[in-house]
Amino acid sequence: MQQNIFDAIVIGGGISGLWTTLDLALRGVKTALIEKSVIASETSGKFHGLLHSGARYAVTDPKAALDCIAENKILAEIAPHTVEDTGGFFVAISREDEEYYEKLARALGNIGIPYRELAPSEAVKEEPQLNRESRIVIEVPDKVVYSRDLAVSIALTAFNNGAYILEGLEAIDVKRTGDDYLDVYVSDKTVGRTAVLRARAVVNSTGPWAGIFARRIGIKVEILPTAGTMVVYSKRLTKRVINRMRPPSEGDILVPYGDTSIMGTTAFLLEDPEATPTPSKEDIEFLTSEGSVMVPALAKTPVLRAYSSIRPLIKFKDREYATRDFEVVDHDNPRGLFTIVGGKFTTGRLIGEKAGDSVARYLGVGKPSQTRSIKLDGGDPYMELKRFRGSSSYRSLYSAVEHVLSLRGRIDEERGRSAAYAVLGGVISLESRKMLGL
Ligand SMILES: Cc1cc2nc3c(=O)[nH]c(=O)nc-3n(C[C@H](O)[C@H](O)[C@H](O)COP(=O)(O)OP(=O)(O)OC[C@H]3O[C@@H](n4cnc5c(N)ncnc54)[C@H](O)[C@@H]3O)c2cc1C
Repeated sequence: MQQNIFDAIVIGGGISGLWTTLDLALRGVKTALIEKSVIASETSGKFHGLLHSGARYAVTDPKAALDCIAENKILAEIAPHTVEDTGGFFVAISREDEEYYEKLARALGNIGIPYRELAPSEAVKEEPQLNRESRIVIEVPDKVVYSRDLAVSIALTAFNNGAYILEGLEAIDVKRTGDDYLDVYVSDKTVGRTAVLRARAVVNSTGPWAGIFARRIGIKVEILPTAGTMVVYSKRLTKRVINRMRPPSEGDILVPYGDTSIMGTTAFLLEDPEATPTPSKEDIEFLTSEGSVMVPALAKTPVLRAYSSIRPLIKFKDREYATRDFEVVDHDNPRGLFTIVGGKFTTGRLIGEKAGDSVARYLGVGKPSQTRSIKLDGGDPYMELKRFRGSSSYRSLYSAVEHVLSLRGRIDEERGRSAAYAVLGGVISLESRKMLGL
């Protein structure tokens, strides 16, 4: 195999790693992203789908809330094909909820998150499934973000700008070689052999695995891995996201996702992401019961499925609430290694920008981040797939690609868009492998 040398290698293809890869590629940094499975298949493919307005964190975590409202607007502009501008309600049902209103309104005002108060009767007209006993309702600019559509659009834009997106490669070690380079040892799951990729800078963006991966390569990174469960119901019950008006807790958000509704979430500490349990009957009952306080029809809506995943949160001992903020750790040993900790799906672009700043500074690259204003590719996944017709990756996936393309112009065109994104992700990875001789 030929020696592959990059300016930067990003380990982990969740939302943080994807945005970091795109950020670096747009600065002209030769970058490879390596993902042990497929992109956005872990927490970034098992979350709630809420593009936060920041209102949920306004009282407890104002810095994260400020980042959320800024990123909420940016993402809707640069990737409109992945975002649904639903709006969101915060509803007070109990007396305690009502008491939280003052604090919430003050915090929203301080941070600059726009909101409007509606008479409960007006809110019920707009959202007929809302609990008619709601005492206070305010509207905030929450939105819904479609996970795979965004992940593949970022990967495609990065690939179109010179990045390599490599799925099925697990990083098993990172070692410094002399002064200039770090060697990343990878296990290639597609052929069952190991290989070495070399780069001047390496970003550990393994999300919930960040602490475990750091230990594996002999350094210390502390994270607070917090698992959560979400339940998917067979009907979309509301136009908007519905939030309980209370401090962030369990069972307080209902998200309309396509034709379904997703209720979440629970929270418990879990050190090893590989040990994520399957959702229990009790969790499903608890979330259904909490959700039906806001939207009573939830109790009668069939459950399709439930799933769990892990938040890779930052560990701060002195905070009452776990922060949704993030940091980019610049390691002294080995030099050139950076670790991303914390954040939200909503703030992924900002995380990528900050990681990109750190890596660019280290590499001596002066070009600033471009992701704030670049329009992402991938608005039409069918057309993007067609572009690869005739390539060798296309030939190896011939039937899969043709099946997906055949959905266009047919009864299932809209349903097939997700499949088109999924296959497009695979084609980008195969194309990247081919270019590198992997
Ligand atoms: C229950 C729950 C609900 C949430 N809801 C929301 C929400 O509605 N809105 C929101 O904004 N945020 C939400 N979040 C937070 C958000 O989902 C996460 O902050 C975000 O997805 C984390 O992205 P990440 O890239 O850090 O991690 P991940 O998405 O987990 O990506 C890490 C990647 O690294 C890969 N990897 C690990 N080890 C290796 C290795 N050795 N080599 C190669 N690859 C490796 C993994 O396979 C994985 O793909 C939620 C989180 C949870 C748990």
